[in-house]
Amino acid sequence: MDFEKARKNMVEYQLKLRGIYDKKILNAFMKVKRHLFVPESIQEYAYEDCALPIGEGQTISQPYIIALMLQILELNENDVVLEVGTGSGYQTALLANIVKFVYSIERNEILMQKAKERLLNLGYNNIFIEIGDGTKGWPEKNISFDKIIVSAAAPKVPEPLFEQLKSTGVMVIPIGSKTYQRLCKIVKLNDGSMQSEDYDGCVFVPLIGEYGW
Ligand code: SAM
Repeated sequence: MDFEKARKNMVEYQLKLRGIYDKKILNAFMKVKRHLFVPESIQEYAYEDCALPIGEGQTISQPYIIALMLQILELNENDVVLEVGTGSGYQTALLANIVKFVYSIERNEILMQKAKERLLNLGYNNIFIEIGDGTKGWPEKNISFDKIIVSAAAPKVPEPLFEQLKSTGVMVIPIGSKTYQRLCKIVKLNDGSMQSEDYDGCVFVPLIGEYGW
């Protein structure tokens, strides 16, 4: 199978045609080999327009939804980003190609170990991965983030995550029920208040934890 051709088609037809224009994001999607982040038995479907199972009852999200979330964040090369829900580590790798540092938390030990090993083998040196309940934020409380991306569905914005967002920082998070959500862009304004804007409808696995489900 010609994975490079499949990757180019994914970028052209699933991302560019649907309004993903940020060059940094498109370049990252061209560079990161999605087929290395899914089980070998389903590698041939890695560049399809859908989410795929990664074991432990979890999924690697649809490429377009990941791209949309990254574009909503308006990422800059000096950003320090918190990702909640490492999953396969695919989105972590995309982020690591765009920003300065990525801090990623995963609650499932098996997925976390696999993603850590995979990203280390691929040579990434700007990623920190921890096991834990990401609804409580990064364990070291003295860090704050320019951007936060939550890759699982929450009933509301987890307070500790909003606290760990820098002033004028941006969070993207699917909010709604366990079966249907809307992508929300959350901005922390200079006075510390929250501004929220709704984007597309989506379906994510639930965010399980103290400030989630
Ligand atoms: N973006 C990921 C990728 O590229 O593979 C897919 C993320 S998957 C849709 C959601 C992940 O969130 C799952 O791996 C799940 O175990 C994790 N998760 C759910 N609740 C969590 C929590 N409270 N803290 C950390 N991870 C959590």
